[in-house]
Amino acid sequence: MLIRVRTPEKQLRVNVEGSDSIYSLIEKIASDLKASPHAVVLAWDPQGRQPLQTQTTVGGAGLKNGDQIYGDALKDETAPEPPASNTSTVSHFLVKQDPLDDELVKQKGTIKRGRHPQFCKHGDTGMCDYCMPLPPYDAKYQEENKIKHLSFHAYLKKVMDQNKTPPLTSSQFIPPLEDADFKVKVPCPAGHAPFPLGICTKCQPSAVTLQPQTFRMVDHVEIEDGKVIGGVIDFWRSTGLQRFGYLYGRYEPYSEVPLGVKAVVAAVYEPPQDNFADGVQLHLPDPKEKEVDRIAGALGLTRVGIVYTDLLDDRSGKAKVVCKRHAESFFISSAEVVFSAKQQLEHPTASKYSPTGKFGSRFVTVVLSGDENGDIHPLVYQVSNMAMSMVRDEIVEASVEAGKLRVKESTNAQYVPEVFYKFKNEYNLMIKEAAKPTFPVEYLLVTLTNGKPLEPKETFISPNSFPIENREALSGQDWRTLYEHLTAGGRGLSINLSDFHLLLYIWSLGLLEEADYKLALELVRTRDENLAVELTQRPSWKSMGVMLQEGIAQGQ
Ligand code: ZN
Ligand code: ZN
Repeated sequence: MLIRVRTPEKQLRVNVEGSDSIYSLIEKIASDLKASPHAVVLAWDPQGRQPLQTQTTVGGAGLKNGDQIYGDALKDETAPEPPASNTSTVSHFLVKQDPLDDELVKQKGTIKRGRHPQFCKHGDTGMCDYCMPLPPYDAKYQEENKIKHLSFHAYLKKVMDQNKTPPLTSSQFIPPLEDADFKVKVPCPAGHAPFPLGICTKCQPSAVTLQPQTFRMVDHVEIEDGKVIGGVIDFWRSTGLQRFGYLYGRYEPYSEVPLGVKAVVAAVYEPPQDNFADGVQLHLPDPKEKEVDRIAGALGLTRVGIVYTDLLDDRSGKAKVVCKRHAESFFISSAEVVFSAKQQLEHPTASKYSPTGKFGSRFVTVVLSGDENGDIHPLVYQVSNMAMSMVRDEIVEASVEAGKLRVKESTNAQYVPEVFYKFKNEYNLMIKEAAKPTFPVEYLLVTLTNGKPLEPKETFISPNSFPIENREALSGQDWRTLYEHLTAGGRGLSINLSDFHLLLYIWSLGLLEEADYKLALELVRTRDENLAVELTQRPSWKSMGVMLQEGIAQGQ
């Protein structure tokens, strides 16, 4: 149809379809007015009192063939502010990395090789291609040693070497890491009105082909003491209900992998929750969350992940459990991928090497479930950075099929790019398939190794010796238990106090002065017996003892 548009300069004749967006009309007028489409206003009358509806089609706005409308461009100063961009970039000077990352960036991480008995023709002090140290990301070394994932810092070095990235100190430095973004760019660099009025190759997120992540933010999870994780398993054993907890610990270098990082788990905090035979429901928000973090922080610990059970007794009477998760069912469900992604998004890793100042996460997920022998076995994993971006930008959701994620459909409110994944078919040919609408969760999973420390070094000497918090069903956290625990003979206060759950319970009673509570934490952290003597002489410690005794006598 033909629409006549009167501008201050001339009469325009614009050919459009009734199904075209008003935006296509705006674009044509904008180019004639030499103005940005954002500045163009359209109205039914010359004074502009009856503006044209713009969030619709030409037909939807009520325009008919031959209609006369009026168009003008707002002056620059009155043009509406374009909405802020959705992914903000940040100068690397403002990013404060974990000291662990500052340290690992400095290390070369090269893989040393001995003199090759056949090929090295030089003496003991010489060096040649056959014995030269390898970069930490050497592909052949990786293959020979069956290393499925590079460590994050080996990957970072690989990317920087490939891109020839100048060092941080150079004015030429450009952050080399990428954070996938699935939102439409607003405003569009081409200058048209925002989606859904317009979309073009410059502002739409590009199609993505999924590939398993080649590196991992954390390589290994080390559990200081089996009793720590055992707490959640014991809950299931006594109730038949599943249990959830937050892992507290610290990140340390992991020497088994070049430039590796491990999460060392020292304690589990169990937040308020409802427990069922087939899962848990958290009570959110947890009013104690910040205090727990603060107390853990005073002990040198931070929240490093989550743990939960998915256990079912096999009824054999032999304390065996059903193997629910295996190659024919699933290891990690799509709902779990979404949940872990959200947890990871809440705990991003700061990085000077990413334009956003953040890159992935070191937050880990541990699922305690049955293995093929009927034993309880931890599945330790993270979701990939891609999974975090997809969940953050809400382009995927859990599907009814546990092993598959669903890609959402594009709507007027949200543009979803096409998602593909590659796999080898039964003829061993690489196939690229569109995720319409689902794809296997494996593309977004990164598995981690786990184990015990080689040399035991517990943060807590008596882990889980005191009853655990938020267990109304089992309870056991009371004044008598506390009093007996603190006064148990023959072990000394630094040992009696050395349990995370006990420390949280003492804090919750509010009987100790803040300074004295801090002293107790310091005693646990340092195991300095002088602090134990000092603590027992503090007035609030003494009065706590008296109050506990009185309370017990009164049946508290
Ligand atoms: Zn050599
Ligand atoms: Zn565009």
